[in-house]
Amino acid sequence: MINITFPDNSVRQYEAGVTPLEIAKSLSEGLARNVLSAKVNGKMWDAMRPVNEDATIQLFTWDDPEGKATFWHSSAHLMAEAIEALYKGVKFGIGPAVDAGFYYDIDTGDMTLTEADLVAIEKKMLELAREKQTFERVDVSKAEALKYFTEKGDEYKEELISELEDGTITYYKCGAFTDLCRGPHIPNTSFIKAVKLTSLAGAYWRGDEKRKQLTRVYGITFPKQKELDEYLVLLEEAKKRDHRKLGRELELYMFSDTVGKGLPIWLPKGTELRLRLQEYLTKIQKEYGYEQVITPHIGGKQLYVTSGHWDHYGEDSFRPITTPEEGEEYLLKPMNCPHHCMIFKWKPRSYKDLPFRCAEFGTVYRYEQSGELHGLTRVRSFTQDDAHIFCRPDQVKEEFIRVMEIIEIIFKALDFKNFEAQISLRDPNDHEKYVGTDENWAKAEAAIQEACAEKGLPAHVEYGEAAFYGPKLDFMVKDALGRKWQLGTIQVDYNLPERFDLTYIGADNEKHRPVMVHRAPFGSMERFVAVLLEHCAGEFPLWLAPDQVIILPVSEKYLDFAKNLQSYLKKSDIRALIDERNEKIGRKIRDAEMKKYPYMLIVGEKEEAENQVSVRKHGQVDLGTMPTDDFAAMIRKQVEEEQNKR
Ligand SMILES: [Zn+2]
Ligand SMILES: [Zn+2]
Repeated sequence: MINITFPDNSVRQYEAGVTPLEIAKSLSEGLARNVLSAKVNGKMWDAMRPVNEDATIQLFTWDDPEGKATFWHSSAHLMAEAIEALYKGVKFGIGPAVDAGFYYDIDTGDMTLTEADLVAIEKKMLELAREKQTFERVDVSKAEALKYFTEKGDEYKEELISELEDGTITYYKCGAFTDLCRGPHIPNTSFIKAVKLTSLAGAYWRGDEKRKQLTRVYGITFPKQKELDEYLVLLEEAKKRDHRKLGRELELYMFSDTVGKGLPIWLPKGTELRLRLQEYLTKIQKEYGYEQVITPHIGGKQLYVTSGHWDHYGEDSFRPITTPEEGEEYLLKPMNCPHHCMIFKWKPRSYKDLPFRCAEFGTVYRYEQSGELHGLTRVRSFTQDDAHIFCRPDQVKEEFIRVMEIIEIIFKALDFKNFEAQISLRDPNDHEKYVGTDENWAKAEAAIQEACAEKGLPAHVEYGEAAFYGPKLDFMVKDALGRKWQLGTIQVDYNLPERFDLTYIGADNEKHRPVMVHRAPFGSMERFVAVLLEHCAGEFPLWLAPDQVIILPVSEKYLDFAKNLQSYLKKSDIRALIDERNEKIGRKIRDAEMKKYPYMLIVGEKEEAENQVSVRKHGQVDLGTMPTDDFAAMIRKQVEEEQNKR
């Protein structure tokens, strides 16, 4: 008999060789019907794979991220099986699960897969799924595995196997398809009831631009047709909200290959939006005791050698800039932290000066492969809403709480209803690989957890996910469609203060090391604006809208009045533009609705005579006629309310 320990720490005894599926059955029939995979002693495990020794176990269903990942990865096998059945001689790269669904990279030889092929593959997948094929796990030697794929003529799998250690290699056989894989997989293919192959893309083998470009087939599967239907509706809505599409339509930003790939250029309206956002953030940060700094976009190479960033970014990112001076080298800054360390070091600091909170909208440059670039979310230059807090170890908790408060205020002003966090702590079994004292780590780890609990921030803890230099908290936000976005981070750092020999004078008159906290709660302005665009579908809150008001003269005769009105509004700090086109008023209203301007002011003879405006709110709400002063006051009041939802 073996002892199986469940997540609630209860222990039950089973015969050795029991499978997670059988364990599930012993708990409830319902669970047994739904269990997809398990974690046994911390390792992902097939539901059908025997457990032979005492173990801790976690069972996963569709409701768990791990269960979904198993389901989708298994679907990648099923897709490969279908593709192999339909098109002879194709070769396979890798087929992992992703956030929503899965993909497989395929070498299709001379053939090109089209959208029509995807429909045929979907059909074949469902046909095979109904056969209730199991995933059979087989241990193989390296020689055997190499022989199998050499004979099959799949050089991609050969390459992968050649890098594996003998004795660790497993196959999974599903129907007629055998794949090199670590697993786990779902009990059988009949769980897969609905399939949609969503797109085709090119992908370099192993992400290397110098190697062959394979075809990446993306798909998603569900245990119920209804769930697929709902997903497709969501996908349609997501397409409408795609920040790349909205960014173009609303004229917010552009890219130019001449300027350089992945280097966003903010157009006037986008700049207006971003500056408003930065202004607002700056205002809140000032309230919270941050001091603004500005540092250059480059730094001497030695700065980054000292900080350690050279090891991390040097070879794999933008290369050093040289000057006519022999041996002089600069780097485009990949991080703002080293500059801020120098600011801390600039003068002696006392314990009474701490925390020192040093904030900068700092633009950083990191090389991303061109295939990885994506709208504003994956770029080569971005501006972090960065700050570094230099504090005493006993101040960490308070600082975390204060950062959370800032985030809460901003999210309220932007109508984000829920966000959550992941706390990344040390591997409890291996304290060796971390810098900093055990005592300080324990203090910081407790501080982060307590701060979350005190602020009521939903957070889950991941052990072993901390960086070697300190524990951290990552923020995730759910948008209007329920999608989760990874935003920024608060991170404790015991390393940089060491590397730069940062000190402060304590109450004991001795030198002490400050704790450095990095924080960029929104990550970057680029990423944050992308998330915001997709969240609000381009209908920004009034305080942030690049154009808050559009004035629609009913005919050319009232253009002068419209222009006077515009300059009056501008003086009241209200952003207004005029539709000067010679179009019918009905058309102008429709177009303004499309462009999502928060307010339309219709002006004609009566309005001019009485210095009034006819007001329509976006969403076809007629607010009637009012004096221009009243309108301006109404706008100012709304802006104020939106910014102060605390
Ligand atoms: Zn697999
Ligand atoms: Zn930093």
